[in-house]
Amino acid sequence: MINVLVAGFKGSMGNKTIHMVANNDKFKLAGVYNPVVTEKNVNEVAEFADLDVPVYTDYEQIPVNDIDVWIDFTIPSAVYQNVKFALENKISVVVGTTGLKDEQIVELKEIAAKNGIGGLIAPNFGISAVLLMQFAKQAAKYMPDVEIIEMHHDNKLDAPSGTAINTAKLIAEVREEHQQGNPEETESLDGARGANYEGMHIHSVRLPGYVAHEQVLFGSKGEALTIRQDSFDRESFMTGVALAVEKIGDYNELMVGLENLL
Ligand code: NAP
Repeated sequence: MINVLVAGFKGSMGNKTIHMVANNDKFKLAGVYNPVVTEKNVNEVAEFADLDVPVYTDYEQIPVNDIDVWIDFTIPSAVYQNVKFALENKISVVVGTTGLKDEQIVELKEIAAKNGIGGLIAPNFGISAVLLMQFAKQAAKYMPDVEIIEMHHDNKLDAPSGTAINTAKLIAEVREEHQQGNPEETESLDGARGANYEGMHIHSVRLPGYVAHEQVLFGSKGEALTIRQDSFDRESFMTGVALAVEKIGDYNELMVGLENLL
């Protein structure tokens, strides 16, 4: 039995996660964490009251020796501290929260290595997104002119999405840095050409009704290729989260990308 703590349990992803954990025979929901919790808002979380699980609001309260895996679906400004706390206390981590900076990931990797603890940071737990990133990396070898459009619900805090940044990083591994578009181009409205990652432009769309979607557009002389994935329901991420929780105890390093466990 794997004892799991869920940080961010009141949020859209956290709520799905506590139910996935509670309904999986191999996992025990050993606790949930959020620094700001009141009885009222705990009971607003669908069916949470029926689960009878300890709610921790302070790191000090967490029985670290009784937790095997820390799942994090919180916010960009909280995730680094949370993951650092877990790794320092020898708890494996499964991190879905986006917005970690490269230098923070380097530091967290060092802590995991020092303590011999496994962890996974997955910008996207959906298999369609993992495949999109792999296919885009393959295509970029032959079609190096590329732009990325990511589309999300309008409550998302960070832009561009972690998946878009990871897509750009994977493409950059196989593509020489080069500027695209007319070298003389100007923006008559700021931001019109989107963010720029090593010459690749990334555009972020935020709309109600959307969940998480991405298109990678390749253009070449007389032809184009578009790769697209859609996550229509947050439930689609749960298979990847469950897989990570089950496997992460076998590792002693912090990895980025679900493909490391597939
Ligand atoms: P959300 O609905 O805003 O939920 C975030 C939750 O985190 C809120 O309930 C918030 O509590 C809580 N929180 C804030 N500070 C915290 C802290 N210090 N410790 C613990 N909990 C804290 O967001 P969401 O849609 O669930 O998304 C969560 C994260 O997952 C985002 O970064 C998003 O981009 C990412 N995401 C990843 C994937 C993936 O496959 N990797 C998929 C979807 C989303 P309050 O309610 O009290 O403010």
